Amino acid sequence: MSPNVLLSSANPEYTFKFGKNLGMHLSPGDVVALVGELGAGKTTLTQGIVRGLGVGEEHYIGSPTFTLINEYTGRMPVYHLDFYRIEMPEELVNLGLEEYLYGEGVAIIEWADKIKALLPEEYMMVTMQYVDRTVRTLEVVVNGKRYAELIETVMREPIACESQG
Ligand code: ADP
Ligand code: MG
Repeated sequence: MSPNVLLSSANPEYTFKFGKNLGMHLSPGDVVALVGELGAGKTTLTQGIVRGLGVGEEHYIGSPTFTLINEYTGRMPVYHLDFYRIEMPEELVNLGLEEYLYGEGVAIIEWADKIKALLPEEYMMVTMQYVDRTVRTLEVVVNGKRYAELIETVMREPIACESQG
């Protein structure tokens, strides 16, 4: 049976909650690669992941579109990367990507498809797709045993959505 998961998100709160469940189970060194067009929900998902990693509400989580990286401290260092503006992986030589991908923190990467060749051997990829104004699909593909076990654990958690009434 494939460990990959296909989810339908009915609203932003669901996406956030799934992200939070995921973030609660991430460990140092984990890499979450996000793929999807503008407005697909990558940042919304990231906000949930970062909260799940224990970063408090006093920190606003926006898109590091111009800075390429935002760094937070939760249960561990959290690196939020956004490669929207990157056209070639060569543009990242001075960023010190190795530290973010192979260090003691968790890396969450928006537009990860632009740097696919630079990703580690093992990582989790979430591809998000716009369906309609409030609906998105999330396709989780795991590369490596660590991530297969991780998504299995995460999927055991209920996604409580208060706003679903
Ligand atoms: P991206 O980072 O992929 O460009 P954002 O998360 O910044 O996307 O924006 C997604 C937008 O779509 C937000 O305004 C969000 O409220 C809205 N949205 C509507 N439905 C959903 C959903 N089911 N999941 C995530 N975002 C949604
Ligand atoms: Mg974004």
